[in-house]
Amino acid sequence: TRRNAGEAEFHQAVREVLESLGRVIAKRPDFADDALIERICEPERQIIFRVPWIDDNNQVRINRAFRVQFNSALGPYKGGIRFHPSVNVGIIKFLGFEQTFKNALTGMPIGGGKGGSDFDPKGKSDREIMRFCQSFMLELHRHIGEYTDVPAGDIGVGGREIGYMFGQYKRLSNRYEAGVLTGKALFYGGSRARTEATGYGNTYFVQSMLGTKGTSFDGKKVVVSGSGNVAIYTVAKVHSFGGKVIAMSDSSGYIVDENGIDLKLMKELKEVRRARISEYLRIKGEGKGVYFIKAGEGSIWDVACDVAMPSATQNELTGKDAKSLVKNGVMAVGEGANMPTTPDAVRIFQEAGVLFAPGKAANAGGVATSALEMQQNASRDSWTFEQTEGRLATIMRNIHDTCAATADEYGAPGDYVMGANIAGFVKVAEAMRALGVI
Ligand code: NDP
Repeated sequence: TRRNAGEAEFHQAVREVLESLGRVIAKRPDFADDALIERICEPERQIIFRVPWIDDNNQVRINRAFRVQFNSALGPYKGGIRFHPSVNVGIIKFLGFEQTFKNALTGMPIGGGKGGSDFDPKGKSDREIMRFCQSFMLELHRHIGEYTDVPAGDIGVGGREIGYMFGQYKRLSNRYEAGVLTGKALFYGGSRARTEATGYGNTYFVQSMLGTKGTSFDGKKVVVSGSGNVAIYTVAKVHSFGGKVIAMSDSSGYIVDENGIDLKLMKELKEVRRARISEYLRIKGEGKGVYFIKAGEGSIWDVACDVAMPSATQNELTGKDAKSLVKNGVMAVGEGANMPTTPDAVRIFQEAGVLFAPGKAANAGGVATSALEMQQNASRDSWTFEQTEGRLATIMRNIHDTCAATADEYGAPGDYVMGANIAGFVKVAEAMRALGVI
């Protein structure tokens, strides 16, 4: 902890994985040799850089940016870029660490990395976003490449930002290297189903988990936090599986719609108008089973539901929230976001027998589809939506089954946290041993 002082989220993510490893070392003592575990916890490379840019008032602004290249034993570093004022080195390291095991679970040839900046995209004009992305890429381009490191989107980085970054990379490198970034739009090398992949994938995972109890989403009440990329396509898939999403949120508060969230309206508000979520109530009107609760005046997890799918940010679902969900009869939780559930909340769910899908397994559909985008770029091909979604569905089923089988094998049946941590770790550890002391 001394050499990573103050990096609370990184400590939390590492502790959670290490707590699962006792059973592995008992079976495979060789994994404790040669400082293998210490090496897995240390990023291969961390880059911290200045991003100067000029705002619409002609003022020079400065942000700090990061790229943590965590582990490349299985393939080029791969992981998203986050733009949010909370970003610091500890957050990017926790995300890069988790990403390494998540990527291993997908079965695709990709290592783990993550990046971002404390830049706040809220309220910025389109030109400001473009200038920031260009300045960000002016430094980042030296460190990435199809065979080196392949970034994608994350909080605050969607198709628009990826486009500006790709344009700048292309200009700086004088190469049309489509495979250097994923999450691109279709007309310049993107993959069908990438936008939908994380939310769809989490829904497939939870559907498999419900299947182990002989049930499904059909007729279930569902709460999805957030209203960004992951949340929106989670709602779409849950609805297509016959579930009803009754609440969503953003950082300003949450909306409940007892008739089921109107996804068309939510997409218009969030994807087109980039509006605050309270607009939903303004448009729908009061007193029709729709209400809005401001942030700080209540928790979205107080809304009674059968399935909870936290899809906003880390540590958004606390022990108190878990108690209230359990009291209201929740039967399954699927993490769309990375580490949204605090460790005490995870314990409460597991002790209450709630099915719990950890993010590094449940939200792996996004990066898996990014790897499919890389495949399409490498072969200069473009697959249909059905083919791509079919691959995604198969990958998610495999991840579910691998986690469940690993949990059984290591004496913790039904413990998907243990299953995901162990299966991901073993894959990375085997590769690192084979490659020598690296
Ligand atoms: P978006 O930026 O599209 O959406 C994020 C959503 O979460 C917004 O509604 C945002 O509200 C809310 N949010 C973000 N930070 C906070 C906060 N500190 N407090 C309250 N609400 C917050 O991001 P994504 O949907 O892409 O990402 C959501 C989560 O999913 C993240 O944890 C990300 O790491 C994870 N993830 C994403 C993948 C992807 O493919 N995009 C893949 C795997 C995981 P507001 O607009 O008010 O800030």
